[in-house]
Amino acid sequence: MNIARILYPVKVLGPGNRIGIWVCGCPRRCRGCSNPELWEQRPKYEITVQELKDVIGSIVSTHKVDGFTISGGEPMAQSQALAELIKYLKTVSADILVYTGYRYEALYKQKSDYIDDILSSVAVLIDGQYIEELNTNIVLRGSENQNIVILNSEYKANYENYLETVHNQIQNFTTADGVVSVGIHHRGFSKALLTRIMDSGEV
Ligand code: SF4
Repeated sequence: MNIARILYPVKVLGPGNRIGIWVCGCPRRCRGCSNPELWEQRPKYEITVQELKDVIGSIVSTHKVDGFTISGGEPMAQSQALAELIKYLKTVSADILVYTGYRYEALYKQKSDYIDDILSSVAVLIDGQYIEELNTNIVLRGSENQNIVILNSEYKANYENYLETVHNQIQNFTTADGVVSVGIHHRGFSKALLTRIMDSGEV
């Protein structure tokens, strides 16, 4: 897989202390995307599913993991490997939340075994392309056109409670690639960040 980052504990993209996984590679190029650095796949981010399982296993063996959030990039662009990974994640926690730019209905109609495996395994899908004009900073969703699709009814009450009781927050992680800002960013975040970097003279 091409995976840009694995972070723990992610507390702002779903209930509890989660492992966040960001895939690399996305064909959409949405205006205002907060992760444009994840559009292109990079050789340095290549990792086998087994290596990924080992990394996650080492976190799970020493920390409490309440669930997983998979974002990107476009996770469905690596559906075969993602299906295999999710099969393993389910042995740790079935609270698996996946962001995708595709609509649930469009994925369902693809008749792909890998996509079917993913849809039948994840608890929550947040679907639809990011549209900057519809970014109103609502919980878990980058823009209002996106849907929160609860695919595992066991998590319905938990997520409904989560959505009613939290507000968006940003978490910053220090990584080998620099500081990574995690969460639902407000409209114009990418532009403002780029302006700050340019003003600082670091590029
Ligand atoms: S689908 Fe997501 S990662 Fe891809 S360009 Fe749009 S907002 Fe960015």
